[in-house]
Amino acid sequence: MKEVFLCSICNVSNGGCKEDCAYCTQSLKHNTGVEIYKEKSHEDIVKEAKFFYEAGALGFCLVTSGRSLTSRKTEYISKAARMIKDAGYNFHLIACCGSADKKSLQELKNNGVDSYNHNLETSKEFFPTICRTHTWEERYQTCENAASVGLMLCVGGILGIGETWEDRAEFYKSVNSLQPFTSNINFYIPHKALPIKNDIMQRTEAIECIKLARRYLPNTRLMMAGGREAVFGDDQREIFEAGIDAVVIGGYLNAKGGEIERDKNMLSSYGLGIASACH
Ligand code: SF4
Repeated sequence: MKEVFLCSICNVSNGGCKEDCAYCTQSLKHNTGVEIYKEKSHEDIVKEAKFFYEAGALGFCLVTSGRSLTSRKTEYISKAARMIKDAGYNFHLIACCGSADKKSLQELKNNGVDSYNHNLETSKEFFPTICRTHTWEERYQTCENAASVGLMLCVGGILGIGETWEDRAEFYKSVNSLQPFTSNINFYIPHKALPIKNDIMQRTEAIECIKLARRYLPNTRLMMAGGREAVFGDDQREIFEAGIDAVVIGGYLNAKGGEIERDKNMLSSYGLGIASACH
């Protein structure tokens, strides 16, 4: 029986980002009105970890907004990682904190972080169309930095932001060159304040995107993240047939997810198991 991995997200800081990524509701440039907060307390982070651990998630990702992993953020995330592991929540722990140098990434690893999530988002050629405040190369370098200190990689992106099929193929070639453990797939969710005016992707096109990712990344865990509910509604069987083997449960950064129990029931109704170990 195919088993699906459940991953969860803890949005430890939100909004207030000075970058201009055109698809992101956390950018200050777009006035999206999302809640802005700097840092959740470590106690609240551990409470969320407990909730998702008991719900059966194997992955727990600590996500900060903003361009990069500063020394302050490194300390803050390191403390959160230690507290989560000391409390006995033996997650595959992921940090997603933007551009980062080797020294900061090494510190995260030393404190119990297992993987670093940094997305290339799209092809190198298309990236300057959707972001002018930092480069695709900076993103690629961070992924290389994370791998060089022994962190496992989660590298994915967002589809449906105006890129062509050629961009998608180039993007997945680049992701493949990093050989990530996991690649997350997000479908763009329209927001009236964002400059990208595309509608939500049609499900047939979205399924083709998943199949394309699977072709380029035969050995990588493919995780369906933002847009799962918005694109596929309650009928999600096809995404697993197309190659998805992990899902984010319990909501995304600034978009609601489905009920966790409902997701689990859905998986079992498709004859899919829930993975009980990460490797
Ligand atoms: S750097 Fe990250 S948080 Fe900031 S706008 Fe871009 S995607 Fe959003």
